[in-house]
Amino acid sequence: MTHEERQELLESLLAKQKAGTLKPRDRFDIPPQNMPEQDAAARRRNVSEVALGYTEMQARLEAMRCLQCKTAPCVQGCPVGIRIKDFIAAIADGHCDRALDIIKENSLLPAVCGRVCPQEVQCQETCTVGLKFKDVSRAVSIGRLERFVADLDCNGAAIPSVASLTGKKVAIVGSGPGGIVAAADTRRAGHDVTVFEAFHKPGGVMVYGIPEFRLPKAIVHDEIETLKKMGVRIVTNFIVGRTRTIEQLMTEDGFDAVYIGVGAGLPSFMGIEGESLVGVYSANEYLTRANLMKAYDFGSGADTPIAASKRVAVVGGGNVAMDAARTAVRVGAEKVYLIYRRTEKEMPARVEEVHHAKQEGIEFHLLQSPKRIVGDQNSRATAIECLRYELGEPDDSGRRRPVAIAGSEFLIDVDTVIIAIGNQANPLIRQTTTGLEFNKWGNLVVDENCRTSMPGVYAGGDIVLGAATVILAMGQGRIAAAAINDDLADKPR
Ligand SMILES: Cc1cc2nc3c(=O)[nH]c(=O)nc-3n(C[C@H](O)[C@H](O)[C@H](O)COP(=O)(O)OP(=O)(O)OC[C@H]3O[C@@H](n4cnc5c(N)ncnc54)[C@H](O)[C@@H]3O)c2cc1C
Ligand code: SF4
Repeated sequence: MTHEERQELLESLLAKQKAGTLKPRDRFDIPPQNMPEQDAAARRRNVSEVALGYTEMQARLEAMRCLQCKTAPCVQGCPVGIRIKDFIAAIADGHCDRALDIIKENSLLPAVCGRVCPQEVQCQETCTVGLKFKDVSRAVSIGRLERFVADLDCNGAAIPSVASLTGKKVAIVGSGPGGIVAAADTRRAGHDVTVFEAFHKPGGVMVYGIPEFRLPKAIVHDEIETLKKMGVRIVTNFIVGRTRTIEQLMTEDGFDAVYIGVGAGLPSFMGIEGESLVGVYSANEYLTRANLMKAYDFGSGADTPIAASKRVAVVGGGNVAMDAARTAVRVGAEKVYLIYRRTEKEMPARVEEVHHAKQEGIEFHLLQSPKRIVGDQNSRATAIECLRYELGEPDDSGRRRPVAIAGSEFLIDVDTVIIAIGNQANPLIRQTTTGLEFNKWGNLVVDENCRTSMPGVYAGGDIVLGAATVILAMGQGRIAAAAINDDLADKPR
């Protein structure tokens, strides 16, 4: 559709709406608005964002596709209960500032969530329009609309108001999405808040894991700047459990409450032969080198912390695997293979990421899994030996269990292998803090208000949920902050 065609359609829809004659049928007839994106061949050679965002006309037309359902099933699908139909109605009416205000009631990071939330299994999965077409890809594009208003930032860089100082100190350990939200909400209540971050840059996985081409770092940077303007102190290169323990923060440094939001940054490996060869990385290490240490920035003379690879195998089928594979393409690999032991249907990665990865030339090796990594006399990886699989009965996760086909081994020549099969909780806090309860996977146990077993200590995000999502971490940051604010209100100075 051209801009003029969109304009004409929008005007006719608005006229019908004004006359009270707009029918659901008219809304169903509006074509779903695709988001413009960078050409696949061009983007293989840059790290700029792939999806370019809606124009205003596209956003308003997409918003007109919403039926304004009385029961708004989309809201039930949203982990933080954003008033979706109301913000969409505001966009349709051309009031994007109001739309942003509505979103911000429940989500502090709309520009992030609009880009990385798995909407197709959350709000969009339950959207009536997608259900009517029996196709979730035809649901109202709630995430793209969220991104549209967040990027316009019609409110300007408004700094949330902060209550007068309470004299209470709050420590936030980890600066991921959960930590950012917990810091903002406790600071708003007037507490003196300090964020302690192990890395040299704050932002958590949004900075060191999710690549620039999916989530521009400037967005996260702006959120951190907002926190600073609110008066939150950010201390980097500070590892709680090493630099100071939680007990020290509370008994010696005077913190009245501590929120633990350290994520799940410990990569899992397969336990196969050859995983310690040169050229074998965890996806976390690979992505951290690329994102945080700018391995992609060959031109500007950054010290490149990843050896140049020609043939890369990425093992896994989630978002992390897609990010690693697409990063490998951008840092110059000629061939990138994605090896996954189930089929595409079972892949946990977002549909959009799978689609983009294929467009960028990543070769999918499905129903295959590595048996060992082969190295040369210098202990450098030279090949990956894989087995072919078929799907058997469903396992505990409900997905059909992959079963190896005996004798199906074959070799793929590679110089780099990236293992992206999952992350677990880092054991440091567990090893250095007595009085905290952890489950058998090493995740912190909390109650429904994100209180841990240790008085004054709260936790949320991946360290509680296991590797989860940005929006769930944010949701827990908010719940924990509410509990901290409640508890500190009753605590004498
Ligand atoms: C590559 C990748 C891609 C992903 N893609 C998506 C996606 O598309 N959509 C989505 O919703 N989710 C995605 N996720 C998951 C999502 O990023 C996480 O669920 C979310 O970031 C968890 O937030 P969190 O607040 O628990 O902290 P995290 O973001 O994990 O941040 C924790 C922070 O704590 C710091 N830290 C750790 N230990 C200490 C310590 N002892 N002292 C001080 N600081 C410490 C870490 O350095 C880190 O900065 C992805 C994850 C990865 C790894
Ligand atoms: S379910 Fe879909 S159509 Fe209904 S209010 Fe939500 S976004 Fe609109």
